[in-house]
Amino acid sequence: MESRSEPDVLQPRERHIVAAVRDLDGANRRELAELTGLPRTTVTAAVASLIARGLLTETDGPAVTRRAGRPSPTVRIDLSRKTVAAVELGRRSQSVSLMGFDGRALNRADIEFDQAQPFEAVAAGLAAAADTVACDATEVSAMVVSVAMPFRRGAGAPQVPMYSAGEMHFAPAKARRPNWLLTDPSAALTEALGIPVVIENDINLAALGESGHGAARGAHTAVYLSVVPGFGAGIVIDGRLYRGAGGVAGELAHVSVREDGDLCVCGNRGCYTTARRNGPSLADDIASALGRNMSLDEVIELAAEGDVVVRRWLADVGRSMAEPLAGFVTMLNPDLLVVDSALGSAAAPVVEGLRDTIERRTSPMTFQGLEIRPGQLTASAIPAGAAVLAAQRYVDCLVGLTPSRRLGGLGAMG
Ligand SMILES: [Zn+2]
Repeated sequence: MESRSEPDVLQPRERHIVAAVRDLDGANRRELAELTGLPRTTVTAAVASLIARGLLTETDGPAVTRRAGRPSPTVRIDLSRKTVAAVELGRRSQSVSLMGFDGRALNRADIEFDQAQPFEAVAAGLAAAADTVACDATEVSAMVVSVAMPFRRGAGAPQVPMYSAGEMHFAPAKARRPNWLLTDPSAALTEALGIPVVIENDINLAALGESGHGAARGAHTAVYLSVVPGFGAGIVIDGRLYRGAGGVAGELAHVSVREDGDLCVCGNRGCYTTARRNGPSLADDIASALGRNMSLDEVIELAAEGDVVVRRWLADVGRSMAEPLAGFVTMLNPDLLVVDSALGSAAAPVVEGLRDTIERRTSPMTFQGLEIRPGQLTASAIPAGAAVLAAQRYVDCLVGLTPSRRLGGLGAMG
């Protein structure tokens, strides 16, 4: 077989070493020799080559003290040279952020992006978005497109059944999916843009962002709960997103809580999103309670000032979310629930409401190991999640694992 000269193509022993560095979250040469079973001299030579090719980096002293004795240099995967363009096609705003794979925010710009365009225009628009934030010195290595709808890898956004207007008094037009997302456009976009492109649900990305760089760092099983602008959950197990068999795990909005409730756009009846009388938008809901228009920023400000109506409303949101969550928490046994990063200081009453009701609705053995915290990455959870996802896919690729081959073919993880 012809030898390849690309720095990112690894020999089998190099793959073992990079996989060990990843699994140990940084390691010294002795630990790498022990874990891989390779001779120390082989490890030393391979590490030197990987460092020279910009794939590994070295820092003095151990990052995690695993052994007593003189600290030796720690080897890590070098994520500082790669960047991802994180394109957010949000419900209320659209933006593109340039992020280092290591989570550093490098640049950001608002964009206007028409999702109703044909595929060619979408591809051109995404390429232009990446150009907007690209720095002269840094090449964009990958793109993650955040979409505000369920999205299945390899299949696209699930189409929702449509009902007659009379039956669906709240039927949102936004339930219709853009044509370019009806099948997974990742491969076609990768070809069109010349860099790896992946599409991901916004709440999943926020969950991954808090897991890699925010409130859920170090958690074993973290569930991120989105409140604004829609209810949803993202599940991260051992730092990896859990998508479920069909790729739509965490659809909190569509847990049925009323058997005889309203028909929902998803085809179910009495979904949580329909049972909350004023609809899924927090700012609109409070605005209708207070009888005036109000932005989300204003809601957050009022909550921080201690406004009793706003805080009570937010605590009620937490209590009501506990209803579809209690059984799930018992079954999954997470160690952490993270409440919507975008709420900022307004997350505190939601946390209180959740804690209060989940404690009553779960057994002590489940509740005692459970922490509930607000998210930390107010406006940057989604770009941070894009950085985590891009870095994980890059490292998986280095060690020769595609997400579908990881964990014995569990395509839903990764
Ligand atoms: Zn539903």
